[in-house]
Amino acid sequence: MTDLTHLTCPSCQAKNRIPAAKLGARPSCGVCKAQLMPDTPFELDEAQLNKHLKNDEVPLLVDFWAPWCGPCRMMAPQFADAAKQMSPKVRFAKLDTEQHQAVGSRYQIRGIPLIILFDHGREVARQPGAMDARSIVSWVSQHLKR
Ligand SMILES: [Zn+2]
Repeated sequence: MTDLTHLTCPSCQAKNRIPAAKLGARPSCGVCKAQLMPDTPFELDEAQLNKHLKNDEVPLLVDFWAPWCGPCRMMAPQFADAAKQMSPKVRFAKLDTEQHQAVGSRYQIRGIPLIILFDHGREVARQPGAMDARSIVSWVSQHLKR
């Protein structure tokens, strides 16, 4: 029996089913052919985040940020670097809390940058404050170890 992993396409939001063994082989979306496991962070809005949380069986790390936030912008390249290091174990996404303000109250976000790690639709852990790539990678690994 093949073990299928469900995951949402970062580009068209279609639900895909990929054999677990192929997650590291640069799988592409069955609908739009975009990379399903990009090694760079992708943008999400609230509706897209909801879809990912509903469908994804691959851990998702979301960077809640805003364009006016200096530390957020400083952290962006570190976040991208961590995404490369953790691919294809974890997918990295960014959500602009200025454009999508409802998300801020829904997740009770009091300060940004804030990263939240989701796995199978549940919040596993959150960490406020700017972090470098090495701290992000070790923080995520520590919380996925259970
Ligand atoms: Zn797609």
